[in-house]
Amino acid sequence: MNLSAANFFDTLLGPQGPQRVRASQSLLALGLYLAFAVVLQVEVALGMVSEAHDLPLTLFGLGGSLLFYGLIRSGANLRMAEPSLTRPQMVFGMVASTWAYLISGPARGSILVLMLVILMFGQFGLPPHEGRRMAGLGFLMLALGIAWRAWSQPGHPDLKLDLVHLMFAGIVFTGVVAISVRLGRMRDRLREQAADLKLALARNQELATRDGLTGLTNRRAMLQQMTIAAREIERHHQPLALVLFDLDHFKQINDTLGHAAGDRVLQRFAEVALSEVRAGDVLSRWGGEEFLLMLPRSGLEEAWRCAERIRARLAARPPDSGWRGARMTFSAGVSACYQMDRLEEAIEAADRAMYLAKATGRNRTELAAGPGMGQPSHEENTL
Ligand code: GH3
Ligand code: MG
Ligand code: MG
Repeated sequence: MNLSAANFFDTLLGPQGPQRVRASQSLLALGLYLAFAVVLQVEVALGMVSEAHDLPLTLFGLGGSLLFYGLIRSGANLRMAEPSLTRPQMVFGMVASTWAYLISGPARGSILVLMLVILMFGQFGLPPHEGRRMAGLGFLMLALGIAWRAWSQPGHPDLKLDLVHLMFAGIVFTGVVAISVRLGRMRDRLREQAADLKLALARNQELATRDGLTGLTNRRAMLQQMTIAAREIERHHQPLALVLFDLDHFKQINDTLGHAAGDRVLQRFAEVALSEVRAGDVLSRWGGEEFLLMLPRSGLEEAWRCAERIRARLAARPPDSGWRGARMTFSAGVSACYQMDRLEEAIEAADRAMYLAKATGRNRTELAAGPGMGQPSHEENTL
């Protein structure tokens, strides 16, 4: 679509969204009334409808549909209980078509088709029970229109044909009701499927970002979160601290007590460590028995204190029964990052510090050494 055509449609229908759909539907209805007005003119020219009857109906149909379009385009419909205006538009359409039926002379059977179009239009926008009610209302209006004419013009020669039309309308409108029931079921099924899909997506997202054993953030999701956090702290000139934990002699737990007991130890570490971190900190399962903790807006010292709090909590727990009565301990390395592009370096530094803790006796926390790891590379030293 070229630019001027796009501008034209934007002006006519408004910006993308539900209001544009409503505006285009009301314009479609306006187009139908316009086409119907042309047909009425042809009937007048052919002498089937009197001009005196045609003009008020044409003005009613076009005026009413312009009013609906205006309500939607101005946004006035948004203040109403039903912004789509489906119900009033349908009732209006059925009044207009009953009126058209009564003035259309021998061609009035074709108006039933028009009523059918109006009813079908409603079946998409209304709940099934209301669609049925609208079909009933259409039938009632037609019946009342015919009864009114029979009463006001006794002996009118069209009455027999009117009654046949009414029966025909009864059959066709019942068909519309059957379709509305099917449409309603389809809509329900689609809604259920959409809800199932949403749930499956959420579950998949959970699986993709969580570690199955501990429920912690997995390594891939942690890398993503660290990148986002590093960007954030760089903007605010704040540090981001990392603590890499590695459980001590974990292989022995597996070897002595079995893999399932090892799994429980990992879960327990996750549980205890999580209870000691702040809301904005992220603890992840980095690999096997290694855990990486990210503390945004924290420096080395704060991260070190956090690691030691976790150590104290673990030490305070009753010893793991069966494994030589020993407690679960870990060695940890702490580093800090001040620039986004040094994040990888900071992870490596925490890893080196953790190995230093292992080498210097385990069950301890070491701080990373090296430029940029413990101190900001710019002048502000937040420690
Ligand atoms: P160190 O103190 O030097 O860290 O010794 P370690 O025994 O903890 O380290 P090592 O790397 O030798 O052993 C890690 C073990 O962790 C080996 C592996 O079988 C075990 N492991 C890794 N993932 C899991 C898991 O999900 N569950 C269990 N139960 N064990 C795991
Ligand atoms: Mg390890
Ligand atoms: Mg280990």
